[in-house]
Amino acid sequence: MKIRIHDFLNLLARWRGEHARVQDQAASANLSRLRVVAPLVAALNAVHVLIFALQLVRAPVDSNRYRWAVGLLITHLTMGLTMLAVAGLVRHLQRTHQTRWSQALTIGVALTTLVFSVAVASIDQWVTPAITPFLITCMAGGVILYLAPRVAAGMYLAAYMLFYVAMGITQHDPEQLLSNRLNGVTACLLGLLLSVLLWRKFTTITLQQSELEKVNAELYARHRELEQLTRQDGLTGLFNRTTFADLSRRELDRGQRQGSATSILLLDLDHFKRINDTWGHPAGDAVLRHIATVISTAVRSSDLVGRLGGEEFTVLLPNTSVQAARDLAEKLRQRIADAPLPWQDITTITITASIGVGATTAQEKRDFDSLYSLADKALYKAKQLGRNRVA
Ligand code: GH3
Ligand code: MG
Ligand code: MG
Repeated sequence: MKIRIHDFLNLLARWRGEHARVQDQAASANLSRLRVVAPLVAALNAVHVLIFALQLVRAPVDSNRYRWAVGLLITHLTMGLTMLAVAGLVRHLQRTHQTRWSQALTIGVALTTLVFSVAVASIDQWVTPAITPFLITCMAGGVILYLAPRVAAGMYLAAYMLFYVAMGITQHDPEQLLSNRLNGVTACLLGLLLSVLLWRKFTTITLQQSELEKVNAELYARHRELEQLTRQDGLTGLFNRTTFADLSRRELDRGQRQGSATSILLLDLDHFKRINDTWGHPAGDAVLRHIATVISTAVRSSDLVGRLGGEEFTVLLPNTSVQAARDLAEKLRQRIADAPLPWQDITTITITASIGVGATTAQEKRDFDSLYSLADKALYKAKQLGRNRVA
């Protein structure tokens, strides 16, 4: 038994935590519901006002029927006008997104409706022992609005106390009074049960949804990461061969449409194998990363830089003539030669590169493979001529 109470208290604590996490969503869901329900209830009350106005005309003054009709006419008129005001407030709150006020409005509407139903049920006692309006409102309140169980319990308790007192004023038959008060308890408990069930369902679904949204966002981020990885060379972060070729083809097409020249540089490090052999593979990797940085910082942001594999780099230069490409290649060669890489405080690794230049004009209409082949031949020539040069 002790364990059961402990479990129950744990459950309540968990519910409270969950309530805090869904209260914003509950407030906005309640506003959406009130936006539809408030004008409907206002219209329903208007119909009641008309009906009781007619009853009023027919009933003899000073009769119970007359008092009943006047009482209900006033209550329905009040409720109808209140609901019209609620409809206006809902629109305002939906525009301004004020969660606290939305919560207050929801509780206010639920309470007012219950008070209204108590008034109608007790006025009804002048002509009928039924408490149907109170019963219906208790159920409707339970299913229409999302209320946290604590709030709902307090509200039904307050409504019942009011119902208990009000019944005593208009119902004078002791047996009927007892029966109505007992039925009132059932109505409130059923309303509360429905309210708690609805609230729990709403909470579970909302939390599941936000969990799903979180997982989706993580998946999307992971997908973007993977996409990035398939586009990049893992060692240097430059475009890999496939991506470089794809993007270059697009740039070439664009250049040809716009009538501008496009050039390409093919850069191969000289005697790179020796660096690996002398200082080890990690040193070779560090050199490759270093060269990637030197190239990337030397070119324009509109130029494409890729690593084709091994110690071969390439740069596509949109809107660049052969002469401008040669000048850039020479600048790059110089920068690489002038920037040896310090290695583990024991040495600096001097690096040189040979660069082949290929260029095409819009009139020539060379495709990427042909442009690449031009640069490859030039690179071979640069190696043949003794390396550390541009050809
Ligand atoms: P050359 O001047 O004629 O270009 O001579 P080279 O030594 O630079 O050319 P070679 O093609 O003989 O050697 C390239 C070397 O690059 C061989 C290979 O082990 C090394 N290599 C290729 N990829 C990587 C890499 O990712 N990291 C490192 N550290 N080395 C690599
Ligand atoms: Mg090579
Ligand atoms: Mg090489």
